[in-house]
Amino acid sequence: MQDSFKHKGMRRQLIAQLRQDSRITNEAIFEAFDKIPRHFFLDLAFVEQAYTNMAFQIGAGQTISHPITVAFQTQLLDIQRGDKILEIGTGSGFQTCILCQMGAKVFSIERQRELHLKAKKIIHDLNFTPRLSFGDGYLGLPLIAPFDKIIVTCGAPDIPQTLKDQLKTGGVMIIPIGEGSEQIMKRIVKVSETEFQEEELGTFKFVPMLERKVK
Ligand code: SAH
Repeated sequence: MQDSFKHKGMRRQLIAQLRQDSRITNEAIFEAFDKIPRHFFLDLAFVEQAYTNMAFQIGAGQTISHPITVAFQTQLLDIQRGDKILEIGTGSGFQTCILCQMGAKVFSIERQRELHLKAKKIIHDLNFTPRLSFGDGYLGLPLIAPFDKIIVTCGAPDIPQTLKDQLKTGGVMIIPIGEGSEQIMKRIVKVSETEFQEEELGTFKFVPMLERKVK
């Protein structure tokens, strides 16, 4: 796939739209959106709409998150260069690349083999080197934990204890919680080994986080 001036122009327009949202204040997010060609992550049929604020099917019944949702979750993560991040739900790999572009060391898990393989190729073609795992995000990555930050990009029924355990003290987890059609975005701060602070940050729509059904 090509990244043309037309695509770059459309990216600028999307960024202008994201800037209208007062919740997104981290300049590095806009820079990352400028660098990553979102149309590479979509089926050909959707390429023309790649830079509108929409979610699209990416295969296996899953969707790429809305740009504003990616921007908002990234804002909440407060990425610092070198942060060790666990992402649950690689999906298309777009969010993964945004985090890599911002200098994070990303470990991402996806439970659909088809998507894991597709994302691997695109991310590799873009020269990013996150570690991509095929498996169940509920298990996290115990051998690599603890993480500075954890981002979950599918709607979880509650906050998985394994992921809480795999967060560093002082670490942050951004996770949409809820089993219905809408989820509440939560920011969890691990204050000590056993204490967590929770904050609710609005309503979003995610595909569900499905347990132990690796395909
Ligand atoms: N950030 C991605 C979001 C994709 S949608 C993007 O913008 O493209 C969420 C993804 O979470 C889907 O691909 C889905 O297959 C995956 N998922 C759902 N439950 C999971 C689990 N238990 N472990 C890992 N991935 C999971």
